[in-house]
Amino acid sequence: MASTQELKNFIDGRWVAASTGETFENIDPATGELIANVAKSGAADVDRAVEAARRALESWRLYPAPKRGEILYRAGEIMLRRKDELAREMTREMGKVLPEARGDVQEGIDMTYYMGGEGRRQFGDVVPAELPNKWAMAMRNPVGVVAAITPWNFPLAIPTWKIMPALVLGNTVVFKPASYTPMLAVRLVEILDEAGLPKGVLNLVLGPGGELGDHLVSHPGVDLVSFTGSSDTGSHISEIGGRLLKRVSCELGGKNAIVVLDDADVDLSLDGIVWSAFGTSGQRCTAASRVIAHRAVANGLIDKLVGRAKKLRLGSGLEASTDVGPVVSSSQLERVHSFIPIAEKEGATVAAGGRIPREGALAKGFFHEPTVLVDVKPNMRVAQEEIFGPVTAVIEVSGIDEAIKVLNSTKYGLSCSIYTRNVNNAFRFMRDAETGIVYVNAGTIGAEIQLPFGGMKSTGNGHREAGRAALDVYSEWKSIYIDYSGKLQRAQMDGEEAKTAP
Ligand code: NAD
Repeated sequence: MASTQELKNFIDGRWVAASTGETFENIDPATGELIANVAKSGAADVDRAVEAARRALESWRLYPAPKRGEILYRAGEIMLRRKDELAREMTREMGKVLPEARGDVQEGIDMTYYMGGEGRRQFGDVVPAELPNKWAMAMRNPVGVVAAITPWNFPLAIPTWKIMPALVLGNTVVFKPASYTPMLAVRLVEILDEAGLPKGVLNLVLGPGGELGDHLVSHPGVDLVSFTGSSDTGSHISEIGGRLLKRVSCELGGKNAIVVLDDADVDLSLDGIVWSAFGTSGQRCTAASRVIAHRAVANGLIDKLVGRAKKLRLGSGLEASTDVGPVVSSSQLERVHSFIPIAEKEGATVAAGGRIPREGALAKGFFHEPTVLVDVKPNMRVAQEEIFGPVTAVIEVSGIDEAIKVLNSTKYGLSCSIYTRNVNNAFRFMRDAETGIVYVNAGTIGAEIQLPFGGMKSTGNGHREAGRAALDVYSEWKSIYIDYSGKLQRAQMDGEEAKTAP
């Protein structure tokens, strides 16, 4: 593999440079090295991609769904074969440590196989009709052309969450990945192409969001926008899509919390906190950026958490000794670090980390020390805003009631967890947590692809990815009535029952 690659768009079955003739750089966040020059697309590229997707829709929607599923199975097999190479490229491109990158690829494989199976399911409803000699059923139809817009933190898994259900249901796709992770997007498209996807069914347009994204979202040829990213961008996209009455599915930010009650196994909770707060350098939408600890156990918990955070080794995700890799970019590093003075000004204390290391090899990359903030109050900015870096804030409470109140006090509602040995508290928490995902005696990360994934409140707009729920995003229900009585039967005519009896 050449060390600097040229990454192009994929439109109507061909790899093509951007119409602008421009490129942008793809940088290794651990070393600052250039990995690839990437097509910087313009509106004309979006137009071509959408036109190709619309043309392909005519035959793809008629392609038998089990055959669509077979293409997905083949894609899953190719991903499995290329797993190590994909994981290494992912680590280079966005920094997560290799075992996590392998997990990201595996999640993509799992989703691809799962949705491959939907080729032979896509169950509809057949229900009794209220009139004699009449048949009533509902079936799924594709929505049309899907714009899949994805973030950089799960560069393979998240695109598969969107592209695989869209394809198996008979939609065609224009895929716009985050500009920090174009390489994994190119790999995914290569894989689906090799698996036998007809030309035009999946198109790739590379480039930053902004104008390009606005053009894609507002394009009259796009029927559905499936977006995962920040709440600000999600709200902007929803506004554009809403005005045009497009279907817009948004999976957005989080401010997830782990609650540790006084009857918890504290050491077990520590494992969950360290993994959920600092895994993927805190750059998971489900990362635990708050720990809500019962006062009775808080001091001991903080001491141990600080000790564990200080021991985590920063470094390149390709090194086996590394626990925490870099954050994705210099601007993200600045943003994460800007929360340290904000926290201190509001009265919080840095108990561990808080620095950007400037020594040795770490100085070349975008590293931030794993950070534990204490003396945090629920209304402080660090307890309310998504930081998306290796920073967690400990808030002390006096019991389950206050814990739930604090948990629900942010605008987000993605994931949460509780550590307790009291079954009554666990069930109350499961019922009252205003989040789309709840864990008991486990951290806030680790969702499985066969259950719905998404959040309440400002984390989304009511849709869910993954599992059966994803099918509802990428399909239209069509209800069909077949009257085989050979005469006019009038439904909803009160008082005419006698006439309709057999
Ligand atoms: P982002 O909002 O900056 O970008 C996401 C995508 O939107 C990128 O592809 C970007 O190029 C594109 N984009 C930007 N402006 C656009 C516009 N005007 N029109 C169309 N597209 C546009 O988010 P990010 O920094 O890439 O990702 C981090 C965020 O994603 C965090 O907030 C995180 O919580 C969230 N996230 C949520 C989930 C979830 O399922 N809830 C999963 C992963 C990440």
